[in-house]
Amino acid sequence: MSDKILYLVIPCYNEEEILNYSALILKGKLEFLIEKGKISNKSKILFVDDGSYDKTWEIICHLNKQNKIYTGIQLSKNEGHQYALLAGLDIASEKADISITIDADLQDDINAIDEMVDKANSGFDIVFGVRKSRKADSIFKKMTAELFYKIMNFLGAETIFNHADFRLMNKKAMECLKQFKETNVFLRGLVLKIGLKSCCVYYERKKRKAGKTKYTISKMISFAVNGVTSCSTKLIHFIFLIGVFFIILSLIMSCYGLIRLINGKTIIGWTSLMVSIWMLSGIILISLGIIGEYVGKIYMEVKKRPRYIISSSLLEDTPKN
Ligand code: UDP
Ligand code: MG
Repeated sequence: MSDKILYLVIPCYNEEEILNYSALILKGKLEFLIEKGKISNKSKILFVDDGSYDKTWEIICHLNKQNKIYTGIQLSKNEGHQYALLAGLDIASEKADISITIDADLQDDINAIDEMVDKANSGFDIVFGVRKSRKADSIFKKMTAELFYKIMNFLGAETIFNHADFRLMNKKAMECLKQFKETNVFLRGLVLKIGLKSCCVYYERKKRKAGKTKYTISKMISFAVNGVTSCSTKLIHFIFLIGVFFIILSLIMSCYGLIRLINGKTIIGWTSLMVSIWMLSGIILISLGIIGEYVGKIYMEVKKRPRYIISSSLLEDTPKN
């Protein structure tokens, strides 16, 4: 028997078409887990209405009137998936012992929740839901998504391959997440920075039953750009590397230009012009790279991230960081 309170955190943006159906399925799952004694009967389903302009909030209020297992918050405007999740996790960290974030369309397999809860009950702090394959996705979505994970990792924004935001976090992990006070959040990357004891559970992702994807191409691109720029300053480092490349190229060009000059195969002024263009471009890029490295440091400093996170302590009064 476990008395851990579980909050299912569901971000919803214009999900009127599927919300009632999803709510019913999630209630069934929660009641099943309560019956099995895996979670407390105080567990709830927390909907976060991310500034929807359809009937999403009305549906959430109606569900809450019908059954107190449903609860919800409404954001004043559309802040985006990541912020909706964050708002839900802030509430869950106060009211629950464990939280699971899952999309309102239930594309992620809710049967993986059982295994996630088991893992939490056996001592894991974070459990990542990872897709086994992308059979249900269109070829375009599959290609862009796989490219996304590869580019992100290459650019220094570490993520778990094929893990979206279907994730269990216990109170400790949620409290740690709160120590990251930055405004631009990319949860998938941030949660990895927390550390703690984690594991993965694998599942097949399904197609959306109703409604359309809320991730338009422009939202997907800004999500990726935000992911890279909020997790790493590696892009700045590339400027420096390009500068170094140009300087090397300018040396090669100098040799080539001089040989042509000595052989008299060039018009007056060409060599000096070529060499100065390549050399100066290199110097400018390297200088930008150096300034960039400092800007990057300032960027990381202003985030005021915790410098370390204590996972366990035998002291009575442990400083947070
Ligand atoms: N969502 C949100 N705010 C947004 C966009 C999406 O809260 O601005 C929610 C949406 O309601 C859903 C989840 O984020 O529960 C994932 O969105 P979606 O299913 O459209 O993305 P996809 O699965 O196509 O990547
Ligand atoms: Mg979806």
